[in-house]
Amino acid sequence: METAEYIQMENQYGAQNYKPLNVVLSRGEGVWVWDIGGKRYMDCLSAYSAVNQGHCHPKIRATMVAQSQKLTLTSRAFRNDQLAPFYQELCELTNSSKVLPINSGAEAVETAIKVVRKWGYRIKGVPAQQAEIIVCANNFHGRTVTIVGFSSDADARNDFGPFTPGFKVVPFGDIGALEEAITPNTVGFLVEPIQGEAGVIIPPDGYLKQAKAVCQQNNVVLILDEIQTGLGRTGRLLAEEHEGIEADMTLVGKALAGGFYPISAVLSNHEVMNVLQPGEHGSTFGGNPLACAVARTAMRVIKEENMIENSDRMGEYFRTGLQQIDTQLIKEIRGRGLLIGVELHAEAGGARKYCEKLQSAGILCKETHDNIIRFAPPLVINKEQIEWALEHIDKVFSA
Ligand SMILES: *Cc1c(COP(=O)(O)O)cnc(C)c1O
Repeated sequence: METAEYIQMENQYGAQNYKPLNVVLSRGEGVWVWDIGGKRYMDCLSAYSAVNQGHCHPKIRATMVAQSQKLTLTSRAFRNDQLAPFYQELCELTNSSKVLPINSGAEAVETAIKVVRKWGYRIKGVPAQQAEIIVCANNFHGRTVTIVGFSSDADARNDFGPFTPGFKVVPFGDIGALEEAITPNTVGFLVEPIQGEAGVIIPPDGYLKQAKAVCQQNNVVLILDEIQTGLGRTGRLLAEEHEGIEADMTLVGKALAGGFYPISAVLSNHEVMNVLQPGEHGSTFGGNPLACAVARTAMRVIKEENMIENSDRMGEYFRTGLQQIDTQLIKEIRGRGLLIGVELHAEAGGARKYCEKLQSAGILCKETHDNIIRFAPPLVINKEQIEWALEHIDKVFSA
């Protein structure tokens, strides 16, 4: 079948909730993917940072195959021999004390919301039904009704109400606004350390450190959504390390299983997790042995193959190279590690057009909002591959 036929078939039978580039991929290895015609591309999106370890990582694949031949799903009605080691290894990796495993990022966010609300009622002493959670403008935390209810993106939100009450929105990066929004009923502050979907927006230096202090002073649980920024993406295991803090709750997902399997987790080093009792939360697939086995190997290779350090060094190298491109089109280049945002001037006519030109040049990127292109290749990328990418990016932007 040809590309056009796949596209036609997709459009005929599928819900149109995405607007993908017109490339039909059939194979991947490391930083590279191939389309059905055999053309090779560098993947500079990494499935929104879910394939940090590179496509079809051989060790993760071996675990996936081996575990799928042994045991895949028990439900949590019974125990399985992968769950406990997964807990321990994830706690040791992230310096956490408790884990709650679930499937998608949005479910991890929902889980955190439930847990902090219950903590608010049972431990903090918030009156029934009054718990408030503070979130930031331009956040992205997923697609459930509760989550889109506190989104400031009209497309994400419009026509999907009525929404869950109990959320307050403050500007991202503004510590005064956070302090002002806190009331005796505030139970949590949910924030991304760097806003990925908003266009790789980095808060002012010290913001997270101050947010941590403000939360502590007011007995509010600081919940960091590291679903995109975590697991090496920003050149640290968790982006919170850039500010030398530890969140009370941390959400991870995406790269937790290296792109092989949907798994996410809520991590806690706070009394908050202990409020959950049997029967109050769960998921049929959450903590299944296939997910746990795959995640164990996916975590192990991040460390074993020095992907965090590589992300730090290669991110620096990539950003420096991008800065040197001689063009009037680029307004700003920003990022940490291999989470890089290139903001174009409004006069450039939109990022989509450049994503399509990059596609022709053999680089796959996705625009975020109208004028921003995110470059987030797998963390296994090397210098030579970055030089290859820069050469092609340069041609697109200086043409
Ligand atoms: C992707 C993402 C989510 C949602 O994850 P899903 O697995 O798509 O539900 C939540 N928060 C952040 C910061 C994300 O980047």
